[in-house]
Amino acid sequence: MALSANLGLPRIGLRRELKTALESYWAGRIDQNALQEAARTIRLNQWTLQKEMGIDHIPSNDFSFYDHVLDTACMLGCVPARFNFKGPAVDLDTYFAMARGDEEAPAMEMTKWFDTNYHYIVPEFESGQSFSLASSKVIDEFLEAREHGALTRPVLLGPVSFLMLGKAKHPSVRPLDLLNCVLPLYAAVIEQLEQAGAEWVQIDEPALVLDLDDTATDAFKEAYAYLAQNKARMSICLTTYFGTLGPNLDWALRLPVEAVHLDLVRAPQQLDDALKQVPEATMLSLGVVNGRNIWKADLTAALEQVDRAVAAIGSERIMLAPSCSLLHSPVDLDVEEQLPAGLRERLSFARQKLEELSLITRAARESSDAIASELKTNQELFAKQRNSPEGQNADVQKRLASLSEDMFHRRSPFAERKAARQLNRELPLLPTTTIGSFPQTRQIRKARWDFKKGLLKEAEYRTLMQHEINQVIQFQERVGLDVLVHGEPERNDMVEYFGQLLDGVAFTQNGWVQSYGSRCVKPPIIHADVSRPEPMTVDWTRYAQCQTTRPVKGMLTGPITILQWSFVREDQPRRDTANQLALCIRDEARDLEAAGTRIVQIDEPALREGLPLRGSDWPAYLDWAVNAFRLATSGVSDQTQIHTHMCYCDFNTIIEAIAQLDADVISIEASRSDAELLDAFADYKYPNEIGPGVYDIHSPRVPSVEEVMALLEKMSDVLDIEQLWVNPDCGLKTRQWPEVEASLTNMVVAARRLRECVAKLQ
Ligand code: GLN
Ligand code: ZN
Repeated sequence: MALSANLGLPRIGLRRELKTALESYWAGRIDQNALQEAARTIRLNQWTLQKEMGIDHIPSNDFSFYDHVLDTACMLGCVPARFNFKGPAVDLDTYFAMARGDEEAPAMEMTKWFDTNYHYIVPEFESGQSFSLASSKVIDEFLEAREHGALTRPVLLGPVSFLMLGKAKHPSVRPLDLLNCVLPLYAAVIEQLEQAGAEWVQIDEPALVLDLDDTATDAFKEAYAYLAQNKARMSICLTTYFGTLGPNLDWALRLPVEAVHLDLVRAPQQLDDALKQVPEATMLSLGVVNGRNIWKADLTAALEQVDRAVAAIGSERIMLAPSCSLLHSPVDLDVEEQLPAGLRERLSFARQKLEELSLITRAARESSDAIASELKTNQELFAKQRNSPEGQNADVQKRLASLSEDMFHRRSPFAERKAARQLNRELPLLPTTTIGSFPQTRQIRKARWDFKKGLLKEAEYRTLMQHEINQVIQFQERVGLDVLVHGEPERNDMVEYFGQLLDGVAFTQNGWVQSYGSRCVKPPIIHADVSRPEPMTVDWTRYAQCQTTRPVKGMLTGPITILQWSFVREDQPRRDTANQLALCIRDEARDLEAAGTRIVQIDEPALREGLPLRGSDWPAYLDWAVNAFRLATSGVSDQTQIHTHMCYCDFNTIIEAIAQLDADVISIEASRSDAELLDAFADYKYPNEIGPGVYDIHSPRVPSVEEVMALLEKMSDVLDIEQLWVNPDCGLKTRQWPEVEASLTNMVVAARRLRECVAKLQ
């Protein structure tokens, strides 16, 4: 009989209870007992829910106070020396210090978990790295569930993925060489779980969907052979997700484990190969409900996969599960009260996804007749979606169908635009500017909040914001910046702001998803054809421009970033949705231009993170992503200067695609990784203008004039001085005014001094 399994649930709680508890604990308002109690309540609720739903394999250890990769580092005693860990067990405050830093030690690095918007703490491996069992969390939570009447399947992040996700802090260290050190610890944990009564353990190895070299392949084989030899009765479910195993499928299926989980949502095509190749003693766990989105499952399509699998290997060897942990979807649709009915009926959050899983399991065990009425409703829903014009906007579709080649090109090539543009003659060498936002003070946030709640009339709100813009303009003139911005006080978030002004985009009240630690985001839902009912930014920008004779840049968020940070409809290719967004931004850029804006910046910080997990899929993605950006930016005349901005990622791999964006100017994060970025420019001659960030905005530290000058000189070794702009790394909204003033003043002085040096040389 087919079993049902869940791979993990969101940890934040329905009303973000974990966030509240964590932040209260960090602020010293509650003690550790209260924090533990809040966490325990969340866990118990989840186990109860899953028990009631009849899920056979319920996870434990899917909970985390901050991040499951950090939990794994702590389990293995892999604590960087700067945190002064003396053993034997990592206590909660050390754990939080690793995640967030403290007075003595900076936090560990954080980066994106595969292609999701969840961030994990990057394990650090020092030279002579030692490991020891330093946390009993896995066992504790198993026992806690057991006490509560749930025999769970504890989740571990697998040894190979753990090592591959970490970073060597010394050139002599190769992470996978540490496998021999961590395997005995994994075996010990598995043994302890077995003694505590566990029958199954889930070992997540998402690295199996990446391009693997021989070393990594061998590491997997060695690891699972070792674990098989060193365990008694425990059954292992080896879990993969976020993509196809591709060339890794045949050997991964032969690893000595009791079950292998496949993501059949992202990679349905691997099912048939898997059914042919899976050894007789191995079960297959079929990930048939999407754990990454918010859309209802197509039950008919899921059942078709299940039936094929049952026919091929028999239902005793099958488990049914979501494609991946439900960590990446919001908690419960039931609490949403304001979504349009036509949209709501198409949605499914984590809890509803478990219900879908239960239905599919029932159909697999009995027959599809057992869920006949649910199946019918589901089929009708999908049929309606296919046929009904709801969500379709004829004008948008018509425009999309008639895109012509020239809409993806500026009128003239960069060099001609630059030569002809009046603005370029007015700007000095090494022009100075910022990335867009200025400090978002309490007053600004309060004004936005009051306006949203109806406590502030529109006219009053407008006056407050205009006052703020005025101040920011005067400030920038005083500091001496060349290209000004309005400061973005009206925006809480660079994607949400635009989402709220576009048709076809909806917002939930509680659809929170964990981004990192206690931070959650509420991604917009792009559910229909996207259009722009009216200009979104023109009034603010025009107002700002009226306050000064210096050029003010208009600020827009690019199509790929809006797409990447939203939940996106799946009934059409992402490229089409990207182009719809691009058309909205294109119209906005033209309206800005018509209102007298001579510079428009279109931010694309998420371009890089949209890259698929496998290298072979990169060119196709980059092609449509670059084109969407070009569609958004090519509607303006040659006189208008287009800027873009990107931050916090490794650009070297996609530098050519960045050049193909053909932005006149790009500002780019550089100060935290200047060496790498400069290497990229030494190897590849970037054609257009560029402002590598001259200081890190994530720190309150004020850079000195000399420091900025030194950095600019270094940059001018690999880039033409005529190409260079001078700007910070990113927006300044999280900073305080005094440090912003000091830093920008030094930045402007540095640029002026360099200009003088250059003038003397000429
Ligand atoms: N213009 C935005 C700002 O300055 C850019 C933010 C970002 O790159 N994430 O805040
Ligand atoms: Zn940025």
